Amino acid sequence: MDKNELWQALLAQIQFNISKANFATWFRNTGIVSKEDGSIMVSVPNNFSKEWLENKYNKLIFKILRSLDDGVKEVKYNVTHTETKPREIPPNPAPDDIYNNSSQMEFTELKVNKETNLNPRYTFNNFIVGPFNELPQAAALAIVRAPGSIYNPLFVYGGVGLGKTHLIQAIGNEIAKKFPEKKIKYLSSEKLTSGIVSSIQNHSIDKLKLLYKDLDVLIVDDIQFIAGKEKTQEEFFHIFNGLYERNKQIILSSDRPPKAIASLQERLKSRFEGGMIADISLPELETRIAILKIKSQEKKLNFPDEIIEYVAQNIQRNVRELEGALNRLSAYQTLNNRIPDIETAKILLKNVIFSPKKTTNPENIIRTVACFYDLKDNDILNVSRRKEIVKPRQIAMFILREELKSSFPFIGRKFGGKDHTTAIHAHNKIAKELEKDENLAEEINLIKEQIYSI
Ligand code: ADP
Ligand code: MG
Repeated sequence: MDKNELWQALLAQIQFNISKANFATWFRNTGIVSKEDGSIMVSVPNNFSKEWLENKYNKLIFKILRSLDDGVKEVKYNVTHTETKPREIPPNPAPDDIYNNSSQMEFTELKVNKETNLNPRYTFNNFIVGPFNELPQAAALAIVRAPGSIYNPLFVYGGVGLGKTHLIQAIGNEIAKKFPEKKIKYLSSEKLTSGIVSSIQNHSIDKLKLLYKDLDVLIVDDIQFIAGKEKTQEEFFHIFNGLYERNKQIILSSDRPPKAIASLQERLKSRFEGGMIADISLPELETRIAILKIKSQEKKLNFPDEIIEYVAQNIQRNVRELEGALNRLSAYQTLNNRIPDIETAKILLKNVIFSPKKTTNPENIIRTVACFYDLKDNDILNVSRRKEIVKPRQIAMFILREELKSSFPFIGRKFGGKDHTTAIHAHNKIAKELEKDENLAEEINLIKEQIYSI
């Protein structure tokens, strides 16, 4: 058996030993690079696959390889950065292409695609799978292989911060990669609603319908928000049917199952229930540890197991909070140039862990932002174009919006009677910068930490 045959034989066997979802996650883009004197070097696409294979699957891999070739003495893993290929239509996309077709996160440009509204940061590659999300992930992979033909619609539901947006956007991104000719659109339910409402007002609803009709994949996030909006539901029903009848893929997410969405028309409920409903539940301890480890590696952080376990034990509600905890620890590390010890970690995470319900108010946010930048409250409230004030002011507006969901007109009024477009501009600007500036993200996390520590 040459090295390729050996690895193929291993993959064939390993598939029966682990879940499909785990297989897809950890074994795609792997292979044997060399086999010398019984020493096998396995290439893996990134560091977290490496650690995962070494820690979790090495025994199994070794056992299987040895059973196939008793000359095998040891297995090692090495990260090989495959080059990102230009997008092209494969001549005959193989159904299982997904296993070989991953993008390297390092090379991903983190810009929202104007055409599809998809954020390339959400991929299957960096989507961690455990029992809590195995079913929706498997359904998602099946859809990527053959959009529109298996589960339609796919309805993913689960609590906040559990990865719904990540997963449904990953489907869009992967389909875009596999089938570049397909037209894909990702929308929040608010965008969907505002599009429908304004085209009713402008008498251009037929034009809007044509736009949707043209799509191959429609993804709507947080669909529960169309509850109670009769006109939107009415039009969405027709949009849905138009796509569905032509076997176009529809993917929806919600914080609850269709039957639990109050004031949702029965006919929409039954449409939503007509495909695959998959829920994301809470990740259990082992998965939380895995998530923390993988995410720390992505951020090139190396926290001791003791800290990782402390976080995993104490933060149980969702993945977003796990990420938040890591950000705090990492901000500390950046500022102090050393890894926090467990006692420091406990202090840093006190608020996340012991205050189940976080509350604040606009005054507190403004005071904290001002204080963070060594300014007086009035400095950031008043109109000034001084550079050192513009940024804190925009950050304060951003946090008001994010944390309190304050309306833009309200925010505008608070900040020197500006109109709402100023607030929208500030919010967009910071949101955009956050996409590429990790330091800013850390800065804002620190501010939030202070906001909630009072
Ligand atoms: P939801 O839409 O359910 O509220 P998100 O998709 O916005 O949740 O996820 C919150 C954060 O947690 C995002 O940064 C996302 O990338 C991350 N996340 C959630 N689930 C996973 C997962 N399974 N693997 C990796 N990251 C995840
Ligand atoms: Mg979401």
